[in-house]
Order: sequence, then C-alpha cells, then structure tokens
Amino acid sequence: MKNKEPTSIKALTQAARPYPNSSRSAMNTPILGPQTFLPDCLPLDDLMDTQSGDPQNQPTPTPTTSPLPSMLYPASPALLSQIQGPPSTSNLLLAQDPSGSTTGTSSVNPNSDLTASIHAPKPSTENPNTTQLTPPAYTPTAEEQAILDHLALAEENRAVTRDNGRNHLTTLPQFTPVPLGGFPHSHPSHSAQIFDFLDNQVLMSWFQVEKPKFIVRVFDHTGKDVAENAALLTERIRTNITIIAKFIQQDAPPVRVSPPHATGGKENKDLPLCFLVHNISPETYDTILSQRIWSASDITFEAFHFNCSTPPYLLFCLNGFTTHEKDTVVKAVADVWAHDDNRAEIGDFLSIGGEIPEEKIHTATYSLIRSIYVEHLDFRVSGGIAVPRFNIFARSPTQNAEAWTKLRSFLRILTYPTGLDGCGAAVAVSPCPLCHSTAHPRGLCPFPGIPLWNGPKTGNRSVNNATKNKGKGKFNRT
Ligand SMILES: [Zn+2]
Repeated sequence: MKNKEPTSIKALTQAARPYPNSSRSAMNTPILGPQTFLPDCLPLDDLMDTQSGDPQNQPTPTPTTSPLPSMLYPASPALLSQIQGPPSTSNLLLAQDPSGSTTGTSSVNPNSDLTASIHAPKPSTENPNTTQLTPPAYTPTAEEQAILDHLALAEENRAVTRDNGRNHLTTLPQFTPVPLGGFPHSHPSHSAQIFDFLDNQVLMSWFQVEKPKFIVRVFDHTGKDVAENAALLTERIRTNITIIAKFIQQDAPPVRVSPPHATGGKENKDLPLCFLVHNISPETYDTILSQRIWSASDITFEAFHFNCSTPPYLLFCLNGFTTHEKDTVVKAVADVWAHDDNRAEIGDFLSIGGEIPEEKIHTATYSLIRSIYVEHLDFRVSGGIAVPRFNIFARSPTQNAEAWTKLRSFLRILTYPTGLDGCGAAVAVSPCPLCHSTAHPRGLCPFPGIPLWNGPKTGNRSVNNATKNKGKGKFNRT
C-alpha cells in the first residue's frame, strides 16, 4: 500500500535546476550589469562560505527565483564561461574553492566540496558548440512560469494518479461508500460525551491500553441494547474491523474490541455506548478514523479518536421564530450576545481558567460572536405545519471545560427576540437514536438518505419508537 515513488517537491525542484541560487543571477549578469547583481551577490557569497566551511551540514538552498528547467538554462560552468565571456563576480561565485578564495577563472576544482555537492553542476555531455547557440537570456512571463512550475511537478502528479489513494476501498463492497462531501458529522452534547456513563475503573484500564486505539459507537442502539447484547455487538465490530485491517495488511494483528461497562451495572438508567478497539496497525487506525462512518449490513458504527475533542460547535437549539430565514436568526443571536451586559458576562466566562490572557478577552468575545452560524431544522407538527427550529453553532475561543460549560449554560437561558419574526428560546433536545447526534431527531437524521446506505433506516425500529419522534420532515441544510 506504500507509495513507492516518494518524489519530493524539493528533489524535483533541485533536479530541474541543479544550481538553484546561481543560474538565474549568473545568466542575467551580462545584461543587468554589476549595479544590479551586487546586492544579490553578497548573500550568495555568504552562503557559499557556509557551505564550504561545513560540508557535512549544508543548509538547503532557499531558491530566490522560481525553478527553471536546466534545458533552458544550462548550468555547465564551462558553458557559462563561454556565454558570459570574461569572469564577473557571478562567475567567481561558481569558481570559488573550498578555502573561500577566488581564482579568477571559470574552472571548478574537481576535488572541491562544491563539485561533490549534489547541488553542483554536472558536466554537459552535449557538444558545447551546439548548445552555445541556444539563446539563454529569456525571462518567462508569469503565465509561462506557471507552466514551468507545474511541469516541474508533473512526474509527482503522474505518480499520484497511477496509485490508488490510501483509503481507496472500493474492493470492500460490504461498506457504504463515502458520499460526495463526506459523511455528515454527529454533534456531541459535550467534549467527552463518547465516554459518558462508562465505569471509571474500565476507563482507567482503557487509558492503559497501548495506542493506536480508538472508540466505536454503534448506530441505532441504546445503552440498554449495548448492555444486553455486548458480546454479539463486540463480535460484529471485531469482524468488520478485521475485514478492513486484513484488506490493508494481510498479516494484520488480531483486532481486539472491549465492550463498555456501566457505572453501577446494567440497572443504571444511563448506560454507556462506546467500545474500545485496539491491537491494530497505525494504517488501519488511519483508514478507519479518516472515513469515520462504517456501515455494513449487520452493523453501522462511528469511529472516534481516543481523546477529548474540542468543545462542540453546537450550543443549543432555538424555537419560537416565525421565519425560516437563517440570516434573521444569526442577527438575533449576535445582537443579544453583543449587548453590553451579555458581552461582559461572556468575557467573564471566557477568563475562567486563565487560558485566554486578560487583554485578549475582548477580542475572544468578538471572535465568538463572529463565529455564529445556524442550521435550519424543518420541524413540522401534525397537519404538516412547519415550526422551524434552528441549531446555533459557534466556535469556542477556549478549550477550558469549565469556561465552555458555564458559557454555554448562560447563552442557553437567554431569549433571542427579533422585531418582526418572533422570539427564539432554547428547546430541549434528545440525541438522534440512529446516529446519536444531538443536532436532530430521528426523523431528520441525514444518514438514511445517503446513497447505498446499509445502516438503519428512519422507520426501521418498532412502531412505538417511530411514532414517539415528533420530527418528521426533510433535513434542510440550505
Ligand atoms: Zn441522526
């Protein structure tokens, strides 16, 4: 699966222009005259001194000009000498010996460190009389330079298209393919929701399992389902992850999956949903986490990194507006947050924990307000009457758990009036039973609408469960 053509941009650039810092200035010298090359010349001189003084630790030359193909700008010292005539300061740069002195000729000491360098010009094998006739002093326009720049990278691009991508898994037809634009994101109620209700002793054991490891949450299962069917679900997860692991690596280590255990046992009302997956290769880890959602006929799950993610963008859901216009809602929320009293409160919350310096609290508050965006949920009640709801998202300027929790709680109890379109207030939400996201009810879950979706459908559960959900309508992301 490894890319066997690791051609780097740097290598290509160097190949295209064997002597990065000198070819352009050397070629331009006869035309531009000493007034223009001298300022460029001195730093180069310094660089050459550095290189010759410590050949084991040569800095990578920083190109001061764009890469040019050697066929247009032959870098042979002998040829340069013929083109340029008597030695100039630029010629001397090429002819410096390791001691730093200049010889006044264009010949290069074959024993010098410079000729041994990978950057050193290679002797031309072509007849110099023929090559000499090529007019060298052409400066490409920006448009032409773009062509040359892209051509210098052409081989790398050809190599990329010859290979399958790292996560190319079309030969695993048992899983729903990634839809255009990727799978929808599920929104947690807090940063560590994935570990909710897990027994602390179990969590401590999971902490001690070696990386790579990740967490899996199964679609369409409650904590009670997980507790009652732990062995079956564990085996299904293990089997499906083994399919992926074996596809990536024939001799993949045996995948291990650990079921959760609830604080207080199965009788507890709140039960954990997460499984730990470990004993996997880094390649399997990368593949599974980058696709995130894996949907087979017998199980659908979402994979999570074993860490505490950044605070959720979803803060709360508002209803009470009589408009479907998202801009109206964004303005209402921004106006309320920017109100003097509220802004001061927000600043106080953001300063909890000291993560944001006091002098930057003001900026952080405005950055929070500017980051507001909303999602329209096409809620309908009986009779098909639309009662719009809006999810309110914002990017938290702080990662501090207490600061974010208090800030979110404060913003949630505010009311959000508009002049003409009603007044928004936060409404209770419960996670979608299918994907566990807190951004929508089951009826608005976007996953069943994905092409070739193998996972649970909106109405698959018992009639009782299906009718309990009030949200029936199209998920509107416009
Ligand atoms: Zn959902």
